[in-house]
Amino acid sequence: MMVSLLPCTKVYGGRLKDRQELLASSSGGAFTALSDIFLSAGGAVVCSSYNYESHQQEYKLITTAEERNAARGSKYMQSIPGDIFIKAKKWLEDNPDNDLLFVGTGCQAAGFKSYAEMCGLRDRVTVVDIICHGSPSPMLWREYAKSLETNGKIENLTFKDKRNGWNHPTAVVTIGGKEVSIKPYVKIFYSKKALRLSCHKCPYSTTERATDITIGDFWHIEEKMPDKFDEMGTSLFLIHTDRGEALFEKAKGSFDWFESNTADCWQENLEKPTPIDKDREKFWQDYYSHDIEYIAKKYGTVTFVKRIKRKIGKIIRKIRK
Ligand SMILES: Cc1cc2nc3c(=O)[nH]c(=O)nc-3n(C[C@H](O)[C@H](O)[C@H](O)COP(=O)(O)OP(=O)(O)OC[C@H]3O[C@@H](n4cnc5c(N)ncnc54)[C@H](O)[C@@H]3O)c2cc1C
Repeated sequence: MMVSLLPCTKVYGGRLKDRQELLASSSGGAFTALSDIFLSAGGAVVCSSYNYESHQQEYKLITTAEERNAARGSKYMQSIPGDIFIKAKKWLEDNPDNDLLFVGTGCQAAGFKSYAEMCGLRDRVTVVDIICHGSPSPMLWREYAKSLETNGKIENLTFKDKRNGWNHPTAVVTIGGKEVSIKPYVKIFYSKKALRLSCHKCPYSTTERATDITIGDFWHIEEKMPDKFDEMGTSLFLIHTDRGEALFEKAKGSFDWFESNTADCWQENLEKPTPIDKDREKFWQDYYSHDIEYIAKKYGTVTFVKRIKRKIGKIIRKIRK
């Protein structure tokens, strides 16, 4: 069976009906719903998961819901593919009656899709890419994580805990049962100073992609479709191929879902790559000439004046509403 591109991208929003599963997901739980279809049919899922020993995000081939649950949660660092392409090929050869789902960033999904085509295995894989505005070098997080481990090992890491809502994610690690904020790292990530240079030329920053499905956050939903807003998050689905459409049809029973369009789901990285920050070079110069504590303090803290300005901005916005 050939995989065919749809005449135009179909757009949906949705969130898991199961509120516990939704709470555990970064966005609306697209990853859980799509991977469930494969796992419950004896298939495999290749996705990226955090390694608490190496402090790296690494691609893994998984076959159980338990492993999938451990892979949930966006981790703001470039994930390491290792030998995952070879492992996926071997799994497909050893399991000729089962199929495989790949979930990863646009660049890594494009690589996997080309590899599957080259090996003549495209018919047995479904490729899902996640919207990404760029990821920093794995080295930066590794060093930052190690600097936090002076009094014990990191037991849990979350960048997008929803205790204050999906729109206001909490980022913490747990060490010795206590939560420690990782705001400085998150501030550096969102400042875009530490993203890899190639992210600023990302060719996958578009709604027209060659994967089967693209998933992401349905940002700005509260402005564009306020009746569809939910404080626990909403996933965005861009369906590109008939294979993607068939998978969405199978998965949509576990969602509250709705149709949308490319205008209402607009976000910057569906149009163009993240621009290079003017202080990017200075950041890396500082990184190579100082320790991680200096970098976290200089680039990861908000000055008193900025905090006051932000508070005033918030008050003005509230009054205007
Ligand atoms: C670096 C990064 C930047 C992102 N930027 C945007 C953005 O600008 N706009 C937007 O709409 N969405 C962005 N996302 C995607 C978003 O945060 C969610 O990952 C996505 O919507 C899936 O949500 P979920 O509820 O289905 O995921 P969950 O159930 O929480 O699963 C998360 C999924 O992301 C994968 N994942 C986690 N970290 C990585 C990583 N470092 N590399 C590769 N895969 C990873 C996991 O394997 C899993 O498949 C970004 C994600 C990452 C990792």
